[in-house]
This record gives sequence, structure tokens and C-alpha cells, in this order.
Amino acid sequence: MPRFLVLPGDGIGPEIMAATLGVLRAVDARHGLDLSFETQAMGLETLASHGTTLPDSVMEAARASDGVLLGPISHLHYPPRDKGGINVSAAFRVGLDLFANVRPARTRAGLGRGHQPLDLVIMREATEGFYPDRNLHQGHGEFMPTPDVAMSLRRITRHASLRIARAAFDLARRRRRKVTAVHKANTFIMTDGLWLRCVREVAQDYPDVTLDEIIVDACAAILVRDPQRFDVLVATNFHADILSDLASELSGGLGLAGSTNENDVLCCAQAQHGSAPDIAGQDKANPCSMILSAAMLLEWHALHRGNTAAGQAAAAIQAAVDATLAEPATRTVDLGGPLGTKDFAARVAAAL
Ligand code: ATP
Ligand code: MG
Repeated sequence: MPRFLVLPGDGIGPEIMAATLGVLRAVDARHGLDLSFETQAMGLETLASHGTTLPDSVMEAARASDGVLLGPISHLHYPPRDKGGINVSAAFRVGLDLFANVRPARTRAGLGRGHQPLDLVIMREATEGFYPDRNLHQGHGEFMPTPDVAMSLRRITRHASLRIARAAFDLARRRRRKVTAVHKANTFIMTDGLWLRCVREVAQDYPDVTLDEIIVDACAAILVRDPQRFDVLVATNFHADILSDLASELSGGLGLAGSTNENDVLCCAQAQHGSAPDIAGQDKANPCSMILSAAMLLEWHALHRGNTAAGQAAAAIQAAVDATLAEPATRTVDLGGPLGTKDFAARVAAAL
């Protein structure tokens, strides 16, 4: 009986989370998953009430849960950390060591925005790389040696590179058995050099999986020109962040982009996009991103907890979303359709 922690978050978060819970309850009724949900506040709501975007109780509840449904956060609009503005995504990824940010992109008929259809997964290393809050050196990940010069640090370690590479090869074995290592080792000789050596080393243990390598800028071009070259891409944190927005946009839009932050003991479902303040509170958001993230959390339960029913439920959700998206008349506004968040979610639940 999985117990999920629900954190609706900022902007469109409460709307897409309500839609997702409706779909999860519908799938639970059919597949007997015995799900239970505990909802807690975080983000701008607790900043106002508790002086922090991430109360300690949220992290404790996450550790004790069987999975987290994490809503979007409006980090850009948070105050500095010492005024309570904690980047919740980073706190989860680093604090709970959820090192794998799994970001799939798949074109559905009639919805692709590129020349070619694509079906790939970007495995993003999430605990280090070019993110100042993850690379503190003498208390700072960025620093200014003079008022006119700013510098940034990028940390790449053998430990983090090996484990995300292994996760990518394991995933490739369940897909089309191909991993593409994204890098810039021609220029970043030490950091990307170490990264690439680690991926090659892991590849030795997976003779049944093909390893391809690509420079990150060429990868952006090939994503547009020939995305069928890709099955599983493995990339460092910042590269993967940018490429996954490109891939999800090509697949049909950010509103379709689900993801998880995971390791072998915990999984946190999270839409790939931000809090979309421009459309918040208007019943306009596409809840697919969060619904598909929830399906990925159920898949994680099938894989890591042996919960077969959860795997079947995940497949049922994906099929119901695909069937609903297949009809122009049952698409959301961002995809040119007429439906609001609530009506779309009700259609998906009915399709189950
Ligand atoms: P944040 O600072 O929280 O990242 P943002 O302004 O960058 O907010 P994003 O959430 O990153 O906004 O979204 C970028 C664009 O994509 C916005 O115009 C937003 O409306 C749109 N968008 C994002 N998610 C969805 C969704 N689920 N449904 C429809 N449109 C979306
Ligand atoms: Mg954004």
C-alpha cells in the first residue's frame, strides 16, 4: 500500500496536482493499488506562513514516504536562501540523493513540433555539475574576484558519473539498447574528460548495449535533424537540463513533459517545466506533465518494489493519456485544443 507525499507547489502546481490525483484515484479503483496520499504545503505558501519555502517537516515526510508527487516551484521568484527561499528541487535532489533525473520525450501522432518523430529518454545527473548550489567551494559555487569578473565552478566526480551511467545502461536494456554519451570533452578536457571515461568504463559491463558519443552542441542539432539516432542519452546536469527542454518542445510541448528524480530507494515525480505563473489559476495548464510523471513513479514501484499492479497501472495511464491526446477535440489549450485542466483530466480518468 504505497503512501505518497503530495506537494502541490506554486503557480499551476495545485491545478495539475488535483488533476493528477483524480487520475491516480481512478487508476487505483481499477487496479487495486491501495494508494494513500498525504498533502503538505511548500513553496510560496509556506514562505508566507513559516518563513521558508521548504519546512523541515516536508523533508522528513518525503524520507518516510513511498514516493513524492512534487509540484512545480517558482524558484526564480523566491527570496535569497537566508530569507527562506530554498530551491526545493535542488534540496530534494541533493538532500535525498535523488541523483537520476529521468526525462523522457516521445512524439505522439499529430503533436510533434519537429521534422522527425522522436522517442528518447535523457538521463540527467542531478547532484553536481554546473550548479553553484551543488558545488560549494569555500562556501561558494560562484564568486567574483573583482566587481567586474564573475566565475563559476563545475564539479564532476567519478562516483556521480559512474552511477548515472549505470542507470542509463540499465534503462537502455529495457528499451532499444543504445546509450549516447553527451559531452564537450574536446574543450572541457578535465571535467568532460573524466565524465566520458566513466561512461566508457561502465559500457564495458554492458556488451549488449551500444555506446555512442556526441558533443553537446552537435547533439542539439541532431535532436532537430535526426532524433531517431537517440534512445537513451546520458548527460551532465546543465547540458541535460537544456537538451531536455529542446526534446520536450520537439515532442509537442512542455505540458507533455514528465520526469522523475530517483535512486534505488526513493522516487519523486515532477513535471519538467516550472510553475508557469502566466497561466496559473485559469484552468489552462496541461496536466499531462504531472500525470505522466505520476505514471513514471508507478513504473518505479514495479521495477524497484516488485509491484506488478503498479506497472500495469502505469501502462494504463499512459494509454489513456495517448488516447485522449489522439483526438484534437480532447486536447488542452497549449496543444490547440478546447479543454481546460479539469475537463482534460476527467477525460483521461474516463478513458481508464
Ligand atoms: P518558472 O520560473 O517557475 O520556471 P516560467 O515563467 O519559466 O516559470 P515555465 O513553467 O518554465 O514558466 O513555462 C514556460 C512556458 O511554458 C510558459 O509560457 C508556460 O505557460 C508554458 N507551460 C509550462 N508548463 C505548462 C503546462 N503544463 N501547460 C501549458 N503550458 C505550460
Ligand atoms: Mg522556467
